[in-house]
Amino acid sequence: MRVGIVGLGLIGGSLGLAVRRLRHSIDVTGVARRAESAAEAINRGAVDRASTDLADLADCDIVVIATPIDQIAGVMDHLGNIVAARTLITDVASVKRPVLDWAQRLPNPSRFLGGHPVAGKTQSGLGESDPAIFDREPWIFTPAEGQDVRPFDTWFEIVRAIGATLSFMRADVHDQQMAFLSHLAFVVSSAFAETVQRRADATLGGPGYRGMVRLAGGDPAMYEAIAGENRDALVDAIDQFDGVLHRYRQRIGGGTKLKELFGGAVHVAH
Ligand code: NAP
Repeated sequence: MRVGIVGLGLIGGSLGLAVRRLRHSIDVTGVARRAESAAEAINRGAVDRASTDLADLADCDIVVIATPIDQIAGVMDHLGNIVAARTLITDVASVKRPVLDWAQRLPNPSRFLGGHPVAGKTQSGLGESDPAIFDREPWIFTPAEGQDVRPFDTWFEIVRAIGATLSFMRADVHDQQMAFLSHLAFVVSSAFAETVQRRADATLGGPGYRGMVRLAGGDPAMYEAIAGENRDALVDAIDQFDGVLHRYRQRIGGGTKLKELFGGAVHVAH
């Protein structure tokens, strides 16, 4: 089987490492934006070969687009002219509705299936790649309405074999879920960090503080892209959080039933 990966950063690099460790019969070709990244991916063993030319993916059975979100539409436009009609295409982007819309421009949209490994690290980049990041984490696929996903069965087997747990849902449902589970988290972490920096000495903070600000240290360009592409769902999540935070403020100000207030969320944390 020939797998192509476009984008050899944290996710693309980790995927290449995981897939190549799985089976020697899987051949991985990578494409990055810069020649140095392609060379580094070969050195790290994330790919069998790599270049900066999408044409090198012409004979792949499946191509995984693992670039930043703002590059996906352009990559699809080029790939559509390069790969064979039988080639499957998937992606790993954190927001799915816009990707599904862009995929309609492919010559054969039914050969595209959106995907999102809900895995990662705070820092992006090939230097952070790690084949274990998918282990026991969800990998969500977002078929178009009525799409037959059976052509992707071999890819599902591979994704399962590298440790991920498969889920299927509509793209807009995925984006709403992630607005709460992932995107609200980095917004709150950033807002918390900003609030604290104004009033407190961060060097005095312990593990609780560091845990809260960890996501604020992530890639601002990725957060910008996600917030831009999932704007409505994220604004709704922030509004919900705002209401809950306001209730905490009222109850703490009033000093009543605080144990009940804090106890209400304990089951989520365990
Ligand atoms: P990353 O570490 O910054 O890597 C991005 C890679 O894409 C780099 O290798 C870059 O090449 C390459 N690239 C950029 N533009 C390109 C183009 N036009 N053609 C070919 N390659 C191009 O990013 P990442 O964190 O792996 O994120 C990649 C995708 O995964 C994003 O869509 C993100 O939403 C999704 N995702 C991320 C996480 C996470 O925790 N980071 C989790 C789940 C999903 P150069 O190195 O040469 O610049």
